[in-house]
Amino acid sequence: MIKTSESPDYVSTTNPCKVCAPLGVSLAIKGIESAMSIMHGSQGCATYIRRYMISHFKEPLDIASSSFSETSAIFGGKTNLMAAIENVNAKYEPKLIAVAATCLSETIGDDVKAYCAECSKESNTEIISITPPPFGGAHLDGFYAAVTSVLMGKSKSDKVRQKINIFPSIYSTADLRYMHQLVSSYFGEDYMLLPDYSQTLDGGIWGEYVPIAPGGTPLKKISSAHLAKTSIGFSPFLKDEINPGKTLESEFGVDFFGLRPPIGIRGCDDLTQLLCKKSGNKTNDYYLQERARLVDAYADCHKYTFGKRAVVYGDADFVAGIASFLDEVGITPVICACGTPFNEFEKYIDSCLEFTKPEIVRANVDFKTLDELLEGMDVDLLIGNSKGYRISRDRNIPLVRCGFPIHDRVGGPRFQHIGYGGTMNLLDHVTNTILTTKQNESPVGFSYQ
Ligand code: SF4
Repeated sequence: MIKTSESPDYVSTTNPCKVCAPLGVSLAIKGIESAMSIMHGSQGCATYIRRYMISHFKEPLDIASSSFSETSAIFGGKTNLMAAIENVNAKYEPKLIAVAATCLSETIGDDVKAYCAECSKESNTEIISITPPPFGGAHLDGFYAAVTSVLMGKSKSDKVRQKINIFPSIYSTADLRYMHQLVSSYFGEDYMLLPDYSQTLDGGIWGEYVPIAPGGTPLKKISSAHLAKTSIGFSPFLKDEINPGKTLESEFGVDFFGLRPPIGIRGCDDLTQLLCKKSGNKTNDYYLQERARLVDAYADCHKYTFGKRAVVYGDADFVAGIASFLDEVGITPVICACGTPFNEFEKYIDSCLEFTKPEIVRANVDFKTLDELLEGMDVDLLIGNSKGYRISRDRNIPLVRCGFPIHDRVGGPRFQHIGYGGTMNLLDHVTNTILTTKQNESPVGFSYQ
């Protein structure tokens, strides 16, 4: 974030370390069974969001738009939205439509909620309005605004279908599959993972065109979420109004636990211990052995990782999870940076670290600021999404790509970050990057022959 010389009070952003909130809405809605999202605004929003997500997930992805014209920008987009809902119903036959306000519809003050309520009366499809904060917010805000709006807006069932609700953050599809495996080992089928795009955005190949990809959180479970006993989330810094766990707690008395991200041994232990306690079941041998292998791997890699210095950037919870893991393996996260405004970011990061202390913790940064902060610093690694590539190249600092988005490599969605297994992947990835750099920098090279 830079202040311009012409106007010192004006803060401009150059190459932001975040994406817009409606993109987060679209991603969350892709994780719900038979759901479609409509971006209420210009066609460019839907196109940009589609292109951005397809580049990461490498999967077909449809996002509808109410396609504002000049007339709708002046007189309101109600007619366009009605037509969009009709078209989506005819072409996709979804069971749920989520309408997200975008910058343009927010600017002209379109009452998306009222339009959706009106359309709902004449439609068999449930229509839910989502008004993420398009200007100030980021994709993570939109993601959680969508989850919370669907939870609250969807019709309620009186049938208990799950004991526990799990609200993952923007995780990879491999992470979501791991979360299914882990939680079902304690609760069997009695849980809900919302959202769940592990299949809709990483399914197999289809023999013929399917309008809406199979998979996603079952709508029946969403309707019963208020009857669960417990909810777990991993982004404790969220504002109450977009925190699905807190909303269910205040509205329906479902106990909510906000944990640190399950990356690194401490984060994973927090989660498995809570799952044990709430299910009354023991952790099964598979995870105990996975944990033991991870502890062993920490010991094996320590001589390479200890004393290294890394910069971590991205979403606040991703940064906290990675910093917590680095702290366990002897790497100091010297800069921790997230792209959204978050007053307590330093406190949050501090609460995740035991052995190391960052030199700089900064919220609301863009990549220009991050680059400036790096000036004169001795750093071994950058860890974050592929948007850090330019800094990595210009400053010759190796980049460990993880998180969202990964645009310039394949396999981003298939990279598992969470759980003991995901931490092992990260450890290998980080350690091998350190070893590659060491080999490349050696004048004669070295190897074990
Ligand atoms: S105009 Fe706003 S909502 Fe649309 S793509 Fe740009 S930032 Fe996102």
